[in-house]
Amino acid sequence: MINLEYPQSLKNMQRMGQMTAMGVFRPIARKYDKIEHCDSVPELEPLGKMISGGAGGDNPMAALTGDKTPEDTNEIRNAGNMTGIVTTIEMAAGCVGLMLAVPGVGLGNAAISAVATAEQKERFGKLWAAMAITEPNVGSDSAGVQTTATLDGDEWVLNGEKIFCTAGKRGNAVVVWATLDKSKGKAAIKSFVVEAGTPGMEVVRTEDKMGLRVSDTAAITFTDCRIPKGNVLGSAEVADTEAARKKAFGGVMQTFDNTRPQVAAMGLGVARGALDIAQEVLSKEGIKLNYDKNLWNASAIEAELYRMEADLEAARLMTLKAAWMADNKQPNSTNASMCKAKAGRVGNYITLRCVEICGVLGYSEVELIEKFARDSKILDIFEGTQQIQQLIVARNILGLSSSQLK
Ligand SMILES: Cc1cc2nc3c(=O)[nH]c(=O)nc-3n(C[C@H](O)[C@H](O)[C@H](O)COP(=O)(O)OP(=O)(O)OC[C@H]3O[C@@H](n4cnc5c(N)ncnc54)[C@H](O)[C@@H]3O)c2cc1C
Repeated sequence: MINLEYPQSLKNMQRMGQMTAMGVFRPIARKYDKIEHCDSVPELEPLGKMISGGAGGDNPMAALTGDKTPEDTNEIRNAGNMTGIVTTIEMAAGCVGLMLAVPGVGLGNAAISAVATAEQKERFGKLWAAMAITEPNVGSDSAGVQTTATLDGDEWVLNGEKIFCTAGKRGNAVVVWATLDKSKGKAAIKSFVVEAGTPGMEVVRTEDKMGLRVSDTAAITFTDCRIPKGNVLGSAEVADTEAARKKAFGGVMQTFDNTRPQVAAMGLGVARGALDIAQEVLSKEGIKLNYDKNLWNASAIEAELYRMEADLEAARLMTLKAAWMADNKQPNSTNASMCKAKAGRVGNYITLRCVEICGVLGYSEVELIEKFARDSKILDIFEGTQQIQQLIVARNILGLSSSQLK
């Protein structure tokens, strides 16, 4: 029988996430929405210290628990990915912008967790690592990366430009996607850890944005930027055969199998937060949800709220499944894309619908609903847009390659 209840350890994490969301994030969410790419958020420092003093190297949120993904064990368990999902949903319901501004919570940390060796996890585990894939001419087509990495003695030399890098300014490392040989296509793309302050790496700009305003989004250039040979994540070999090439890029893409469910969880949390506030607003107007009442006896608004809750629950279960598969070393690319597509779309719909349902209270800054609607949009864009997730799912189901289905 399937048991969909959280075990006690996850319930404890859920409670901790709720306390952080409501006790730390919510009270300051509006204040920091007004401060674009803030240099520091003192209220988040204690949380950041907890994370950097924690396990590190695993999923960013798992650092809170000290729980690690099993390396060489067949044991079935909930590890870093599940813990990350459960806490992320709760924290994002407080404020997803602030969640991403907590020192130590970076998408690059998930990349390190997915592909780093034990020695690298030890070295990089406590860094706050951003993720730099996007370039001025490379967005959805991540296989077209133009930034180069050339081996010179015991060092890699990086050259190129990355844009829209979340936490690229405040974080203390960036996981950079670069190619070893442009003529060899995606097989030659590898990821490299570059620590902040490395000569040749420069944050040249931060972006003003629609949502996630407190979180910094940086443009970074790399000019003859030298990093140790051991900072490449995974193997530096460029495969020769087609099968080996696919496998090599699959290693880099494996990062997404961990990060997409995390971004889906952010979408779920933001939608949950908007829905909770909308229900509070409506309850003051006398519209209270009564789950014992038949749908056909409910008002149009009540029925819509029930449908949104059901959609949110479906997205939550899909996200938990993808994360559980990752924790148990099961191939989850299709599930990771499915949950990201579903949660991204549902999150955008619910937050905007809450704005509409609450009318002026939804649209004005009296409540956080309008902010949540703005924050939600990016969750359906970064780590692969809605359309790209659907494309990946279609390719996987139909057994077609990226050149066969574009
Ligand atoms: C706030 C913010 C934070 C970000 N953080 C990061 C980060 O930390 N690290 C990082 O590397 N990047 C980051 N990004 C970049 C983000 O990942 C990209 O914006 C995203 O991958 C889309 O790329 P693009 O903007 O170039 O759009 P494009 O790839 O140009 O796509 C434009 C539109 O075309 C659609 N499209 C593209 N190809 C297809 C296709 N084959 N079929 C159907 N539709 C298609 C897309 O879905 C999209 O709607 C961030 C962006 C923002 C706005």
